[in-house]
Amino acid sequence: MTDTIQTDATDSASDRAAFASASAADLVAGLTTEQKAALTSGESFWTTKQVGPVPSILLTDGPHGVRKQDESADHLGMAASVPATCFPPAVALGSSFDPDLLERVGVALGEESRAEGVGVLLGPGINIKRSPLCGRNFEYLSEDPIVSGVLGSALVRGVQSQGVGASLKHYAANNQEDDRMRVSADIDPRPLREIYLRGFQRVVEDEQPWTVMCSYNRVNGVPASQNRFLLTEVLRDEWGFDGLVVSDWGAVTDRVAALAAGLDLEMPANGGRSDAQVVAAVESGELDGTVLDTGARRAVELAQKAVAGADPDAVYDVDEHHALAREAAANSIVLLRNEGALLPLAPGASVAVIGEFARTPRFQGGGSSHVNATRVDAALEAIRDVAGAGAVTFAPGFTIDGSDAAGLADEAVAAASDAEVAVLFLGLPASLESEGFDRRDIELPAAQLELVDRVLAANPNTVVVLSNGGVVRLAPFAERVPAILETWLLGQAGGSAVADVLYGAVNPSGRLTETVPVRIQDTPAWGNFPGEHGHVRYGEGVLVGYRWYDARELEVTFPFGHGLSYTTFEYGDAVVSSDDDGLLVRVPVTNTGARDGAEVVQVYTSLPGSTVARAPRELKGFAKVALAAGERREVEVRVRRTDLAYWDTRVDLWIVEGGEYTVEIGASSRDIRAVATVDVEADPVRIPLTIESTISEVMAHPVAGPIVGQALAAMAADLLGGEAAAGAGDASGERPAETAGGLGLDAEGMMQMMGAMPIGRAAMFPGSAFDLEQIEQLIAAANAPQG
Ligand code: BGC
Repeated sequence: MTDTIQTDATDSASDRAAFASASAADLVAGLTTEQKAALTSGESFWTTKQVGPVPSILLTDGPHGVRKQDESADHLGMAASVPATCFPPAVALGSSFDPDLLERVGVALGEESRAEGVGVLLGPGINIKRSPLCGRNFEYLSEDPIVSGVLGSALVRGVQSQGVGASLKHYAANNQEDDRMRVSADIDPRPLREIYLRGFQRVVEDEQPWTVMCSYNRVNGVPASQNRFLLTEVLRDEWGFDGLVVSDWGAVTDRVAALAAGLDLEMPANGGRSDAQVVAAVESGELDGTVLDTGARRAVELAQKAVAGADPDAVYDVDEHHALAREAAANSIVLLRNEGALLPLAPGASVAVIGEFARTPRFQGGGSSHVNATRVDAALEAIRDVAGAGAVTFAPGFTIDGSDAAGLADEAVAAASDAEVAVLFLGLPASLESEGFDRRDIELPAAQLELVDRVLAANPNTVVVLSNGGVVRLAPFAERVPAILETWLLGQAGGSAVADVLYGAVNPSGRLTETVPVRIQDTPAWGNFPGEHGHVRYGEGVLVGYRWYDARELEVTFPFGHGLSYTTFEYGDAVVSSDDDGLLVRVPVTNTGARDGAEVVQVYTSLPGSTVARAPRELKGFAKVALAAGERREVEVRVRRTDLAYWDTRVDLWIVEGGEYTVEIGASSRDIRAVATVDVEADPVRIPLTIESTISEVMAHPVAGPIVGQALAAMAADLLGGEAAAGAGDASGERPAETAGGLGLDAEGMMQMMGAMPIGRAAMFPGSAFDLEQIEQLIAAANAPQG
């Protein structure tokens, strides 16, 4: 197809090879300040500038298809783009829980990008689904950071294997669309690290995406594009990112501050205005020239990778990619319910297909990810192909935009009562969810809910097939409709994929990567979303998604991780071992039904008695395993030791607490099939002591603890008399029966009371076991580096 890498200096293959292997630092050293500034901002909506020997490269959306615009350009998906395969958006792909599948989709996206001369594909998006109201949830993978990180890595790996860069976005905490260009996501350090950054960290450390895209919003008051903490301290210094940071389109308000914070490339072009500001800042000394050198070097390195990966002769097979889109879609569908094994349908059965979505599929979301699909399969056609046109009647039932629907519902009800089975396609109209704005509720349109009741009354053999990018409330009918398929937005081949699952050509194996709540009022961010006056407070802390519903013991309609199959799986006893790398979980799983199928084995951990607030269970790993009918396999899931860690705000470090962890192995977060415990050794981290450290904290310290323990035991002996003092100085000791006369406390009670007291202040009480000077010496000794 087209070669859009443009350069004067790299017009022959050998010139390109020479450019790609040159020293980027040397190339930058040969440039003027103006040229360096020019390299760090766009030439047009989608391209970087050609500067001296450095060619222009093309960046395009992303994430689930190539949106290359040849003529008018925009970042809201309004103007046309070249035809490309519309793979299932992340909401569906994520539900496959299948890294291998996502990697294959990534490879195909890379192939299409290369064939279109695209150097960087703007995706994947791995922001956490904090609230089901976020209008862009269809572009994100999960409410869980491990799922987002593992599956995001697979996509990046696939795309980059084709010599095309990925752009991990939107970094960070872009969890809503309302006021997205200004709002400050106000997040405490633990949720920031453990929930919102964890997935980004994993993808960056494992896959080194060529680029990371900063988000529009502020994080704790600082615009992401100017956030040195995020762009330099965390991303580069801690995680070792060595690629380029590109702005989201229009995210930069102060280019000089952004460069200084670690943003390398401003997109799109702004007519050279901000380049002039950068040059002036370097000349006046406001911006260190080496900062600009670094940004320019990264821009050169990105161009080098793009040149090395480019292939002007590349093509891709449109049919093969459509087939892959169909396979991916079918394996992403989640069978939520299947009472009486209503599904799969028998090909001969007469079927009333109801709902406009069957004829006019909703298969992708609105905004910058909107792809000009190479073709689109409608479920109605696909069902007719399998069932035979004679077996199928169709009634639209409602209009997607809610306009005049007189008579449509009556006609649909009549069709339902005449058929053996009714398959009812419900969903959200595109106008209700898109990039750029959030939803106001999670309801399906009222006309559709009424239709469910009427169709169900006319024909109890009703299957509901849902098309929606964000979670919708299913409680009104979830316990009455015998079979429900959540198909999300399935991409261009979704219609065929739905027929594959309805008729059993594919055994469904998708699982929910987000909880379906009973009501919006139950959701974690309720009351804190979308914020007000420029701030949104992440008040639920680490209790995001299922962590919240579990912690609060809230009923949900369908839990995280849930999804049925046309077969059944049985789990045996689990064995868990621990070593320096983490945990190894082994569990036998048997396909006990008559069909081949795939199970998603999920591993959750908790640490009873943890010193920090944690959810009752946190997903730490999963494995998707295909099992033939009757097959039994020992499934292994590895949990990385780093994934057991929490973020400790006292030392600003990840810390693995020692202790006996509970490991739950489940078919969903609320369908635990095996439980084991495992001892995990603590990280050898010393929390520095101060005179404000409590006596309990001092007692837990390996150096200071024994000394203070002895002194306290002696003191308790004075106060309580010999025997009762035995438990003092040992907070975990058995509680002695006797109590100290006047105090009314036994030794353990005394320790509890004393334990909470800062040691420096304890020293000030008369009769204290130590004076301030002794304590200061003790603290100095405890904090001294250990040999
Ligand atoms: C979106 C990005 C997208 C960019 C370019 C922005 O509005 O937030 O995800 O890559 O536009 O279209």
